[in-house]
Amino acid sequence: MIARVALLGNPNSGKSTLFNRLCGLRTKTANFPGSTVQHQTGRFATATGVEIDLIDLPGIYSLMLEMPESKLCTDCLEGRIGDGRPDAALIVLDANNLARHLQFAASALRRGLPSVVAINMVDLAKRRGLVIDEKLASQTLGVPVVAISARTGEGIDRLVEQLTRTVSGGSVANPDRPFPESEPGSIKSAIWAAETFGRIAAHPPEVEADGMTVHDRLDAAFTHPLLGIICFALAMSLLFASIYWLAQFPMDAIDAIFGWVGLEITLFLPAGVLEDLLVNGVVGGLAATVVFLPQIVLLFFLLALLEDSGYLARAAFAVDRTMRRFGLPGQAFMPLLSSHACALPGIMATRLIPNQRDRLATILVAPFMSCSARVPVYALLTSVLFAGRPILAGLAFTGCYVLGGIAGLATSALLRRTILRGPSTPMMLELPDYRIPSIRNALVVSIDRGYFFLKNAGSVILAIAIVMWWLSAYPKSPFTQESIALQARASEVVQSDPAAAEDLQLQARRFDERAQQAHSFAGKIGGALQPLFAPIGLDRQLTVAVLTSFLAREVFITTVFVLAGAGADADSEDQGTLATIRSATREGGLPLFTLPTSGALLVFFVLAMQCLPTLVVVRRETGSWRWPLLQFGYMSVVAYLAAFVTYRLMS
Ligand code: GDP
Repeated sequence: MIARVALLGNPNSGKSTLFNRLCGLRTKTANFPGSTVQHQTGRFATATGVEIDLIDLPGIYSLMLEMPESKLCTDCLEGRIGDGRPDAALIVLDANNLARHLQFAASALRRGLPSVVAINMVDLAKRRGLVIDEKLASQTLGVPVVAISARTGEGIDRLVEQLTRTVSGGSVANPDRPFPESEPGSIKSAIWAAETFGRIAAHPPEVEADGMTVHDRLDAAFTHPLLGIICFALAMSLLFASIYWLAQFPMDAIDAIFGWVGLEITLFLPAGVLEDLLVNGVVGGLAATVVFLPQIVLLFFLLALLEDSGYLARAAFAVDRTMRRFGLPGQAFMPLLSSHACALPGIMATRLIPNQRDRLATILVAPFMSCSARVPVYALLTSVLFAGRPILAGLAFTGCYVLGGIAGLATSALLRRTILRGPSTPMMLELPDYRIPSIRNALVVSIDRGYFFLKNAGSVILAIAIVMWWLSAYPKSPFTQESIALQARASEVVQSDPAAAEDLQLQARRFDERAQQAHSFAGKIGGALQPLFAPIGLDRQLTVAVLTSFLAREVFITTVFVLAGAGADADSEDQGTLATIRSATREGGLPLFTLPTSGALLVFFVLAMQCLPTLVVVRRETGSWRWPLLQFGYMSVVAYLAAFVTYRLMS
């Protein structure tokens, strides 16, 4: 038998931790049948062989509010979505916030579904001197109550045992005293909860002792309006520095693996369209995406650890004031932070923002955060701008992140004064206790995010890569005069000097490649649009590269390499990709990346909305094309103007 159990709880009650502990990696994200609403389910088997499908519902404060998340939960409990009513509900409460969480439990238990209540985080509660009397609690609430720690695993066996019993014939709650009829937060509900709390918790927590503890001192520093922001900036710099450093090794490995696959295909297949498509379109396109996977997984891993430790809640507290001044709600903190890895998971995370205007503002500014796809471009351009001066290059690199952040805040302020007028809703920020973070939880979170990234971004970017390949490979140009002459010379000397012949052939191929770019659809489009980009210093090749990077930024370097590699020195093959790109020339022989051009491009990449997958996700999350189009238009104009000013100032 497979039973269906709905997992309910306030945000931060430890629902996800419990879900991960029970189901491990046996989880999947699915739509509720007949709707576009996504949810996670996981399956686990109990000792007696009963299989349980756990439905992870969003964390909510009340089932009665008019919020999409609350509606989703009630719809699921009533069987309006999904495969009918679940067999039981598992209600998770935080032992350290029982007075509030009990009110939620009461409102959920009144729904009349067989239920089990898990009072979570008892490990922490015990350290504070709070002990839960399971028996009394079960009696009072009229359903099985189990005190657990999702973190340490305490009580989980008993919880599973109770769940098994409940799904195979549990009855609805039969409380000692009737549950309050009003919703959580109302006076009646609060009085009921306070009384219940008094009955089931043996030693109420002692009032904080006088005097500053280490804990208080840390809190004071981390949440201080100025000091807190400095701490946060330091923590983030450290975080990103370690990510780039650590991710480098797996990234090199991934690069090498794809290179090897490409080479094998070249050796295996005869030269031709299929080989070209596979090597340059499919393998090249996949490599460009997958190479960011280590950065994304690492970022989410470290962020999960930081969040778990209790630090991020303090950081959110410190920046909340600043963000709110610019019209961004406190809940935007995590989405915007994760957008620094990739805007896709960041935008998905905005679902937790209850107010629609707050959520739209967050979605619209998220792509200004410097995502990891911009990193290779930043690295290339800062190294051109500050060749041989790594410290300045590093500062410019950091400057890009700051510029993106400022642009995001300014845009939000503008939106809140125009189309999204109105104040942002203040968030009730809770400061959880400091804890030793759970590696297991962080692993589950980061693997999940990595998988999501591959699945969503991979498919779209692969399609883009194939289309780009086609646009630049067709129509085929005839051999050039220069190439024919060079080839003739090569066949003359091939006997006497094979090395020279090979060199000549390479040069001939470069002439052909260059002719091909000009002749191809991509080249023609680039040529036609180049006048538009001339004011920010782009030639035809860079125009094509920038145009393709509107589909996905990471394509930029690949495109420049493919297009401009032809103009580089004959022996550049030994120099590596970046060196080849840096020494590439324009048609007239001038360097491709002059200082003003590099500066303008850098600013352009910080500010422009160059990511088709993001636009698609914004469309999905906002339900209309209006917002992604507005976002695209606005960011393009801002990026272009800023790049133009930069170009003028540097020329
Ligand atoms: P959710 O918002 O309900 O999904 O809550 P999470 O599962 O993300 O948990 C919120 C925080 O509480 C995280 O930092 C968890 O690591 C922590 N947490 C969850 N369960 C326990 C527990 O049993 N003991 C302790 N000490 N911390 C826990």
